[in-house]
Amino acid sequence: MALNNTSSGYNTPESELEGVLPVHPTAARRPHAIVVQSENTSYSDEYITASFQNRGAEVTVSNGQYIVNPTVQSFEFQTKRAPSKTGLMMIGVGGNNGTTLCATILANRHNMVWHTKEGIQQPNYIGSLLRASTVRIGTDSVTGKDVHVPVSDVLPMVHPNDLVLGGWDISSVALDKAMERARVLDYDLQRQVAPHMAVIGKPLPSIYYPDFIAANQEARADNLIPGNDKQAHLEHIRADIRKFKEDNGLDRIVVFWTANTERYSDIIPGVNDTADDLLAAIKSSHPEVSPSTLFAVAAILEGEPFVNGAPQNTFVPGVIQLAERHQSFIGGDDLKSGQTKLKSVLAEFLVNAGIKPLSIASYNHLGNNDGHNLSAERQFKSKEISKSSVVDDMVDANRLLYKAPEIGPKGVPVGKGEHPDHIVVIKYVPAVGDSKRAIDEYYSEIFCGGRNTISIFNECEDSLLATPLILDLTILTELLTRVKYRKTSGEAKEFVPLYPVLSLLSYMLKAPLVKPGTEVVNSLNRQRNALESFLKACVGLESNSDLLLETRIW
Ligand code: NAD
Repeated sequence: MALNNTSSGYNTPESELEGVLPVHPTAARRPHAIVVQSENTSYSDEYITASFQNRGAEVTVSNGQYIVNPTVQSFEFQTKRAPSKTGLMMIGVGGNNGTTLCATILANRHNMVWHTKEGIQQPNYIGSLLRASTVRIGTDSVTGKDVHVPVSDVLPMVHPNDLVLGGWDISSVALDKAMERARVLDYDLQRQVAPHMAVIGKPLPSIYYPDFIAANQEARADNLIPGNDKQAHLEHIRADIRKFKEDNGLDRIVVFWTANTERYSDIIPGVNDTADDLLAAIKSSHPEVSPSTLFAVAAILEGEPFVNGAPQNTFVPGVIQLAERHQSFIGGDDLKSGQTKLKSVLAEFLVNAGIKPLSIASYNHLGNNDGHNLSAERQFKSKEISKSSVVDDMVDANRLLYKAPEIGPKGVPVGKGEHPDHIVVIKYVPAVGDSKRAIDEYYSEIFCGGRNTISIFNECEDSLLATPLILDLTILTELLTRVKYRKTSGEAKEFVPLYPVLSLLSYMLKAPLVKPGTEVVNSLNRQRNALESFLKACVGLESNSDLLLETRIW
């Protein structure tokens, strides 16, 4: 039933149902990003340049009174207009996320439709903030109504269909069979996409240090870079990145960890606490250098961005220092797909409503390979840590409800201060497969001694929630490599790249990595606001204002 045999241009077999329906709006190609006509914004063939006033305030407290001084700093942002030809190399490409991502991109690329018991289903990018959500850019000049555009239209971005896919896995199973093993996608889609997946073939051999992931993963590990020499492993991965780039004529590769959750690495002075120590530790094959850290170092040394989609502390201090030294981008940690995303909204809602959560109890059970790996204590610990700090900033922002930490003898706060009790339990229940169940109870203090309990049952199709996040992270990361800035107050300076730790990715991440010494923002609303404001600043638009003054005055 070949209805439209236009070649996809990707050297993959034609699909029998290719092109039967119009492309879903979230996957459609719109040729133009928005154009801003303003003295703040200029366009050349190569760049969009926009001036921006960063407005803030400095606060001092004097005798219990807050004295606020508004501040303003002038900047210019310069964005290279042409998106890079981008490759996405996933570590763990043969897993549930990796195969689901490859298969869904292929399905979108070919606009394959498939049958489910509900009827005909078409591919789309629902769940992607960039492709499936919109941003308000102003009001219609005729009707006065709000105008919203897809987030991906604010600045030129890579279309997910154009990502060139590849990566590593310790399991040699080819991607068509690995997709079958994952049991995520409908059979009819698997059937159609399988020949395309087979073209991608077997993952590249990877690094396996059994001490870092659960022992129950050992049976999968049959596709390994030989030997125990970590320096040789590093060189091998660097060569893989270079070859993939060259073979596919790419400008940019995003290296993405979506492999099993590792245990935490110990931070050992002289081993991984500085860039030089870390490089030396790799040379001497120190046992505390994890596979994910090696991959991050390889990407940094190749000048390609690295994103960590799992919770472990890949970014030991030496990695962050190395990224700074090479001005190479890094982002992480841990995809924020289901329970934590909801928690970052609900906890903020409660605290901002003046209600005091006393406890948050979270249970999960899941039956996919991720769940199997997390059933081991040390790997669970990584996940527990990543899930646990999500309410911290909201609690810290409200010292009316929660007591501040005591101040120690040297004037330094001791501990975190009062916090809700917060527990996270994860259990492996094979029967439910990729359909994770998350049960949360929020128990709060309300008016004059009252109590409120909210219970939530959240059934997540884990990989179908995670895959659009991987796409958003990849596309945003590529965009952020094209943005430069300069301060325009004072002497004119050169445009320079952003700081290497991409905290603008926080919306998609459970435990956002931020510039050392700066605060983590977990509030989902604030994370989204930051992203929208940044994209708008790059085209010279004011950040979000819900003041809507025109609706409030005569
Ligand atoms: P998965 O177990 O299906 O896939 C992981 C893959 O990584 C496997 O194919 C495994 O063979 C491979 N692997 C393990 N160690 C490797 C190494 N050193 N090099 C190369 N490959 C290696 O898991 P998944 O469901 O795809 O999840 C992937 C990761 O993303 C996990 O760490 C998980 O905790 C994290 N995560 C997933 C979600 C979600 O909703 N799916 C959310 C947040 C975080």
